[in-house]
Amino acid sequence: MPKIFSGIQPSGELHIGNYLGAVKNWVALQRQYESFFCIVDYHAITVPYDAADLRQRTRDMAISLLASGIDPSACTLFVQSMVPEHTELAWIFNSVAPLGELERQTQFKEKAQRQESVVVGILTYPVLQAADILLYKADMVPVGEDQVQHLELSREIARKWNVRFTPDGEPFFPEPKPLLTPTRRVMGLDGQAKMSKSLGNTVGLLEDPKDIWEKLRPAVTDPKRVRRTDPGTPEVCNIYHLHKAFSPAATVEHVAVQCSTAGWGCIDCKKVLFESMEVELKPIRERAGEVRSDPKRVDEKLAEGAARAQGIATETIREVKQHMGLT
Ligand code: ATP
Ligand code: MG
Repeated sequence: MPKIFSGIQPSGELHIGNYLGAVKNWVALQRQYESFFCIVDYHAITVPYDAADLRQRTRDMAISLLASGIDPSACTLFVQSMVPEHTELAWIFNSVAPLGELERQTQFKEKAQRQESVVVGILTYPVLQAADILLYKADMVPVGEDQVQHLELSREIARKWNVRFTPDGEPFFPEPKPLLTPTRRVMGLDGQAKMSKSLGNTVGLLEDPKDIWEKLRPAVTDPKRVRRTDPGTPEVCNIYHLHKAFSPAATVEHVAVQCSTAGWGCIDCKKVLFESMEVELKPIRERAGEVRSDPKRVDEKLAEGAARAQGIATETIREVKQHMGLT
């Protein structure tokens, strides 16, 4: 069975961008592939943070993933720092990863701008990411569009390592490819940047409906719709794109007509979106309540997942060391 791997940082709450771009796809694919889903806490320590907070956010992320429909009996769900082989392989990959490519990564340039003194970890993030994926020899990685560039680098790292250490045989590591959803890039409601945990422009997957509406109401729409009577262009409107993700096809068509003929004002359109979101998010919120009420069970699931992941990880590291002349 082909393998998939994907990770999410416990750098904040799971938001609708993460859900539509990645996690919803994980749920859809978890039974079709041998699946590994990882809460990547080692990736989340390259920005200032509070230790107790991180532990809480890691647990909250596990709860959100389970509530979204990740089923630990169908896939392997675990926390990265429980499987130290991730950092071991990352160091090994440091010896083949090209510095120039790391410096060219868009995310590095953006995140470096936000740090006064830039830490090495945000530069080498894609090396650890390559290790995360290749430790399980995953063929495909369901992610949002922002990760496509990092995955190109993962493929290059796999290629370089294979050529250097297994030149004659079958390639040891596969070259992992991205698996994108139709909603591969969800914008923040201010329309300024992609929705990101670290930018504080998110709509939380488990957020209270009242708070979601408070965020939707002032959200940016087509700037040409200044007056209620101005017709709009659905394709340039973030709200329309969210309709495409949450509303049934007939509603999406209706929204497009109402927008382009000024039949509805933007608030009418947002009210319908809110209702569609509730249909999908309410059951997730309710499941989260159930999952949260049994924290011991969450810990057990994560421990089981880590043990399963580690079984594979130790074997990969053993083989890698053998090929590299390490003891
Ligand atoms: P951070 O700001 O800390 O980087 P993030 O919101 O970007 O957080 P990640 O943990 O980096 O979230 O990414 C988890 C997954 O969600 C990845 O597959 C990523 O591609 C996807 N993703 C993140 N933001 C979006 C978005 N706005 N639209 C679609 N997919 C997204
Ligand atoms: Mg990110």
